[in-house]
Amino acid sequence: MNDYNKNTVTKLSIEKNLLKMNNSKRCILITIDCWRLDRLQIFGNEMKVMPNMNNLCKKSIIFKNMIANSSNTAPSFYALFNSKIPVIDGDYTPLPINEDSLPKMLMKHDIKTCGIHSNPHLGRLTHYDYGFNEFFDLFEKQNKKSFKKILIGIIYNLFKILKVENLFVSIKSLIIERIRRLLRMYKNSNNQIKSPYANAKIITSKAINWLTNNYENPFFLWIHFMDAHSPYFPPNEFIGNITDTFISEKKKKFLHEWGNNFRPFMKLSKNHNEIYKKLIKSLYDAELNYIDHYIGIFISFLKKIKIFEDCNLIITADHGEALFEHGNLGHQICLYDELLRVPLIMKLPKIHSKFNKQLKFNDLVESIDIAPTILDFFSIPENKTYRGISFLPLVNGEYFDKKKYVFSALLHNKNKVYSAIRKKDIPYYIMISCRTENWKLIYDEQFNQYEFYNLLEDPNELINLYDKNVSELNFIKRLMLKKLREKMEIYNSETNKISRIISLHKINGRI
Ligand SMILES: [Zn+2]
Repeated sequence: MNDYNKNTVTKLSIEKNLLKMNNSKRCILITIDCWRLDRLQIFGNEMKVMPNMNNLCKKSIIFKNMIANSSNTAPSFYALFNSKIPVIDGDYTPLPINEDSLPKMLMKHDIKTCGIHSNPHLGRLTHYDYGFNEFFDLFEKQNKKSFKKILIGIIYNLFKILKVENLFVSIKSLIIERIRRLLRMYKNSNNQIKSPYANAKIITSKAINWLTNNYENPFFLWIHFMDAHSPYFPPNEFIGNITDTFISEKKKKFLHEWGNNFRPFMKLSKNHNEIYKKLIKSLYDAELNYIDHYIGIFISFLKKIKIFEDCNLIITADHGEALFEHGNLGHQICLYDELLRVPLIMKLPKIHSKFNKQLKFNDLVESIDIAPTILDFFSIPENKTYRGISFLPLVNGEYFDKKKYVFSALLHNKNKVYSAIRKKDIPYYIMISCRTENWKLIYDEQFNQYEFYNLLEDPNELINLYDKNVSELNFIKRLMLKKLREKMEIYNSETNKISRIISLHKINGRI
């Protein structure tokens, strides 16, 4: 048995029991960008932000400790689709074309695959279309290149030819971007900011159209919603479902700018800060309420064509969203639980009475487990390169070797997460977390900084215990460094970041 919970006993139990239990050849994976766990009623939300999802939860399997393997889209989807831990198991973007992603595996086994999304990190440029029979990139459609963007591209290339492209980046970010932000912030305009993403109505409609022609044969459908991603501009009627406060288009725009530029130097009173934060949270909730409305419509459609009861349905998030818990809005460079602990709801076909009611599991599961679980739905043998493990044995009451820890990671530099759609010519640093059921260690290579939290006593991760001589620290720190050392061969000698970390801590010989 290796340290990642794969074991022959588990696989045997899958083959003997689950395959005969679950013989449905239909699977729908719904992912919601920036979806926070605490917006579900089952996790204490009294606002009924997502009533349709709450209803679904009543007859579904709920995982209370689903951990995303990263806090940003690109690294997190590498875990979801390729069952690999970003950074530790490889370069996460673009998606490596030589690896067996989930859709590629399904396509090889004659399952018809369809992907519908509107996220620039998940498009053709980053190879997310590989393995899909039909792939609808609604971001591409929504964002035809403007003349302004083409002009900026030409100027950038000129600077590049002159080998002073860094000067261009500096000028752009230091001067142009700041002036642009300030102008936008104080400009008196009632114009609504146009979201770059296709909304839930468009995504759902596309999914319904596709299913209408394909539901009778084995299929895998992946749908990704972007509405809960900033900017939060929900339709007004959905704001009304969340708060009594009227928020005009102008106010939404102001809140968007204020939230994204949130700094103490704004010199607003503490009271004002709190009011604005509350309004931003209302907008975020209204976006989830909007998504939920269309999920309700989608589920009604599944019932209408009579496949809801016979379908494997998984709903989860690539990562959560920070709403000022640690000072930030959005999903910036951090690995706190508001970003990593995400919802995971699974509805299995109604062939066993056991699954007609709500089942809850406290066990640690992670994004890398989703692809092996979906392969299990289709009785497709395990892919040996996958790092995750199907959690169907856990659900079915079979032997399941509990995970003792989960890693999450990303590469970053200052305020930017490494991604294929950004420039690669600056150094990137590792940020990694290792968590057990009760403890979490976070390490940031760029600032050589550790944070260590007792998740049981301090679930909001506010009291850093790194210097407090806690005995669990050494165990987790060794786990983390061991994991990094195991994987150092994936990095070339030029960057060799992991080697640097290990020598930095002078414990190479001891782990
Ligand atoms: Zn995302």
